[in-house]
Amino acid sequence: MALLEVEDLRVSFATEDGELEAVRGLSFSLDAGQTLAIVGESGSGKSVATQTMVGLTAGARISGTARFDGADLLTMRAGALRRLRGKEIGFVFQDPLTSLHPQYRVGWQLAEVLQAHGSVSSSAARARAIELLTHVGISQPDRRVDDYPHQLSGGMRQRVMIAMAMALDPRLLIADEPTTALDVTVQAQVLELMKRLQAEHGSALIIITHDLGVVADMADIVLVMYAGRAVEVADRRTLYYRSHHPYTLGLLASVPLAAGHGAGERLVPIAGAPPSLLSLPAGCSFHPRCPFVMDVCTTTRPELEPVPGGTGVAHTSACHLPAQALGPGAEATALRREAVHAGRSAGGPAEAVAGPVTDAADAALGQPA
Ligand code: SF4
Repeated sequence: MALLEVEDLRVSFATEDGELEAVRGLSFSLDAGQTLAIVGESGSGKSVATQTMVGLTAGARISGTARFDGADLLTMRAGALRRLRGKEIGFVFQDPLTSLHPQYRVGWQLAEVLQAHGSVSSSAARARAIELLTHVGISQPDRRVDDYPHQLSGGMRQRVMIAMAMALDPRLLIADEPTTALDVTVQAQVLELMKRLQAEHGSALIIITHDLGVVADMADIVLVMYAGRAVEVADRRTLYYRSHHPYTLGLLASVPLAAGHGAGERLVPIAGAPPSLLSLPAGCSFHPRCPFVMDVCTTTRPELEPVPGGTGVAHTSACHLPAQALGPGAEATALRREAVHAGRSAGGPAEAVAGPVTDAADAALGQPA
């Protein structure tokens, strides 16, 4: 049995403008010791999905299941969930400056986690807080333990958040954009720290990010989200070299890659912006931005289907393009071109979105996105 099994998770919020469906049928599973990276643009539902699992989306309409060690987190009583949070499931929130309480010293905040989950004396909790600060690489921990969050640098605050999340050796650690606010050298240190702590305790890790460099460094499994849904799931290697979904291809084409992997090529941003979750496009939600849009994409929503040839983790993608069109290579490009020529009728709905397949447009289909 997987440590965490999420099945058809749906989360929506009532707003003045109508029902906002933030997460629309998300499923995945994660074993102990594995790292899952959830990637996608802002507003794709990554944070809402994970916060919902630990009961932090008050007022939301929620359905589906999220079984942690067999027990459904979504229907668990508040007290039982509170006992799991912090102890069994640690959470590193985005932006540590606003997540740490500005009026309490960091040592007090660390000690509170320990005392909330066990009878620990104040002096023992303080000693443990100093130990934790040492463990996450904060220098002069016996002095820093009495600092307020505003007295620490961004990297130090992030380390405090990680120390807090790891204080009780959780079996699952959820880290929401843990490196976004940090410069690259501190980013590398923080990722290294999380890997070390994960290895020491065998914890499962969910890392939420839009940084594909973090994915390359950390992930066993990658789940790409768009407009509240998973659109592609694969192991890291398959995702980088044999991705199927045009949104994934677009994400990869829009970031600089390391030497030897397309380094030096022009970066290609994904056209347009994510859709409003209040009124999603019909059919495939990505179709107004997709260079490969076909008539069928404007009416029929593709489901996650297996893609042949993955290594390890099952590779699935929600796209109407041929399953053999994998990665940015010439053969896959030819398959995508062929599908677009066959699937875009003259004067049809796809032409209304992306225009006719002129010679120039045909050449552009060679681009990933
Ligand atoms: Fe969506 Fe169609 Fe583009 Fe696939 S080809 S991502 S189904 S619009």
